[in-house]
Amino acid sequence: MSNDFDANRQDVERLLQRFRDGTLPHFINGQHDAGRSGKTFESLAPSDNSVIGSVAAGNADDIDFACKAAEAAFEDWKNMPGKERKKLLHKVADAITARARDIALVESYDSGQAIRFMSKAAIRGAANFRFFGDMAPGARDGQSLPAEDHVNYTVRQPIGPVGVITPWNTPFMLSTWKIAPALAAGCTVVHKPAEWSPYSAMMLSEIAHEAGLPDGVLNCVQGLGEDAGKTLTEHPAIKAVAFVGETTTGSHIMRQGANTLKRVHFELGGKNPVIVFEDADLDRALDAVVFMIYSLNGERCTSSSRLLVQESIQDEFNAKLVERIGKLKVGNPLDPATEIGPLIHDRHFQKVCSYFDIATEDGAKVAAGGNAVPIDGKGNYVQPTLFTGASNSMRIAQQEIFGPVLTAIPFKDEADAISIANDIEYGLAGYVWTNDIGRGHRIARDLDAGMVWVNSENNRHLPAPFGGMKASGIGRDGGDYSFEFYMETKNICIAMGSHKVPQLGKG
Ligand code: NAD
Repeated sequence: MSNDFDANRQDVERLLQRFRDGTLPHFINGQHDAGRSGKTFESLAPSDNSVIGSVAAGNADDIDFACKAAEAAFEDWKNMPGKERKKLLHKVADAITARARDIALVESYDSGQAIRFMSKAAIRGAANFRFFGDMAPGARDGQSLPAEDHVNYTVRQPIGPVGVITPWNTPFMLSTWKIAPALAAGCTVVHKPAEWSPYSAMMLSEIAHEAGLPDGVLNCVQGLGEDAGKTLTEHPAIKAVAFVGETTTGSHIMRQGANTLKRVHFELGGKNPVIVFEDADLDRALDAVVFMIYSLNGERCTSSSRLLVQESIQDEFNAKLVERIGKLKVGNPLDPATEIGPLIHDRHFQKVCSYFDIATEDGAKVAAGGNAVPIDGKGNYVQPTLFTGASNSMRIAQQEIFGPVLTAIPFKDEADAISIANDIEYGLAGYVWTNDIGRGHRIARDLDAGMVWVNSENNRHLPAPFGGMKASGIGRDGGDYSFEFYMETKNICIAMGSHKVPQLGKG
């Protein structure tokens, strides 16, 4: 056992002590807030399913209180010069960087994600604040659209208080990916984090407050989706909802927000293909295939969970894959050596494990893994798993499993690969491995996916658009695309004084 592991465990205990002794509150209008419901729920550690502590279960009154705080703070925040907002968001980024280890430890323990990945995710959270902070001074900029007798120009203004609802897979990073552009645009925020991973959201609220964010600009209400989440999407003060989570939840939110005409931005599920051609650099492709399904416990929307491998190389490629899978290290998330930690919750663990039987029922082969592997009899640990001999119509190929589970499907040629890749309800991401540059472009053109990587894994560039087609989402994040969501565009048309105004009533 490494010393780092011991140090991590001691430090996480120290950090969580205050939550173990009391109830994790909301953070509303610059203060901790015990809530009005009197109800709580328990948060569990994925490594052994022990209770970490109790969490305030927000209700409609808590949401109303937070939305009113966000509404009251909106005018001043909107009117603050962009360069001032930039300074504040940089201070938040500095404070996140200073607390990055604490955030990573808490997040790792709370979510089951390996510390090696959560350390990077915390730093990426700071980068999100820095990147969008830098864009704040130009957020209102528009276009000049001159016409013959008029000048048209556009300006943007923040849409108002917004709701941000996030999932549990990389909770801190994903929340900053929404909250930072909303704040940079001049919106105030009510955040409802996932009930299975509540702690790092509180840390973000506290950090932002200490960094000088005015009261009411960022509020956090803990609670269950069908209660706190639902009422947030229905609240009249909330003008838009940025949501990351399951496709079915996205449908609920669209319905819930209909009466108040909510603008919605959805980042939903995926069942993303990685297509490996026989002419690819197979060593690099193998590294990427392993990384993109077995990192982050496979609990990753952009994971390449369908491996489409050309028939001519499938035996060789799958054999190498099995060898690599056998060397992956499943372990406690706080252990720096761990590559795959426990799944978030017993309910999700049961779902992932159910596919081990479903695979064989549908006629596929379990080529690697396929078992739960509790440590000392505890925890939501599963073996990294590979299914081979699969066809695209099987449930293991069509349904989002959201665990370290890969389904390999052979294909004959380019047309076959595209047809299999697109035969799915989702359309988030696609990955292609080939050394034929023309083929790379053709596949990228023909894939029904919001994002395509050619000869690369999920490398992100913050100005580039992020989001999905089909059942994988509505809208795009990243750079200016984020501002399109959090802001209204206004057109202003000014006459030169030379055009003829229509005259009525002059006989
Ligand atoms: P989920 O939809 O169950 O929950 C997400 C959030 O929605 C939680 O905060 C939950 O409390 C809330 N919620 C649930 N019901 C609600 C309702 N009726 N009204 C309002 N809020 C409600 O998702 P999850 O299980 O936490 O996360 C995993 C899913 O997220 C996967 O499908 C994954 O693909 C997806 N995801 C997508 C992206 C992306 O960028 N496309 C990124 C990460 C995760």
